[in-house]
Amino acid sequence: MTFDQMGIKDDLLRGIYQHGFEKPSAIQQRAVRPIIEGRDVIAQAQSGTGKTSMIALTVCQIVDTSSRDWVQALILSPTRELAAQTEKQILAIGDFISIQAHACIGGKSVGEDIRKLENGVHVVSGTPGRVCDMIKRRTLRTRAIKLLILDESDEMLSRGFKDQIYDVYRYLPPELQVCLVSATLPNEILEMTSKFMTDPVRILV
Ligand code: AMP
Repeated sequence: MTFDQMGIKDDLLRGIYQHGFEKPSAIQQRAVRPIIEGRDVIAQAQSGTGKTSMIALTVCQIVDTSSRDWVQALILSPTRELAAQTEKQILAIGDFISIQAHACIGGKSVGEDIRKLENGVHVVSGTPGRVCDMIKRRTLRTRAIKLLILDESDEMLSRGFKDQIYDVYRYLPPELQVCLVSATLPNEILEMTSKFMTDPVRILV
């Protein structure tokens, strides 16, 4: 399968090719289509498989960039570095669709988060602690979030973010699409998938 056959909007395809990607990786070939068709997806994949770009691509496809009044997609990651890298990847391939993304991560100024979020962004990529904090301050308004991506979920749990993930989930709209990426699928992850997801597609790469 090529990127052209995935139902991706033209200006996003331009961004992908300009970024130097020619052919989708295995996880991109299998996960992009069900996610952009609105399915919940469990992707069992390690880093280095193209999963970050898969996330960036699907988020860029799903977001309506004609309005930035509300955040439409939220990505949770276990580390500041990964959250920042995902934001960077979204801005890179989403260059021609003028996507606005912001990384909500601990260790950066809260003032900067508030300024960016109040200005309006389409996508937030963050760590569970800071995202939870921004939601509780009502700086990150959740009512229009339609897609939640939980990246490196096993790693988020082993870093003790379980309660914060459940906390964030509680603030999200009920008709939410959820995509979970994890290298392993221990019981705690399966519990999360059965609580958060409806009839998920399972992908193992
Ligand atoms: P990731 O697992 O998304 O962090 O990707 C690992 C590396 O592969 C990164 O350097 C990406 O830029 C690169 N990459 C991801 N998808 C593709 C692709 N379809 N074609 C070429 N390189 C890619």
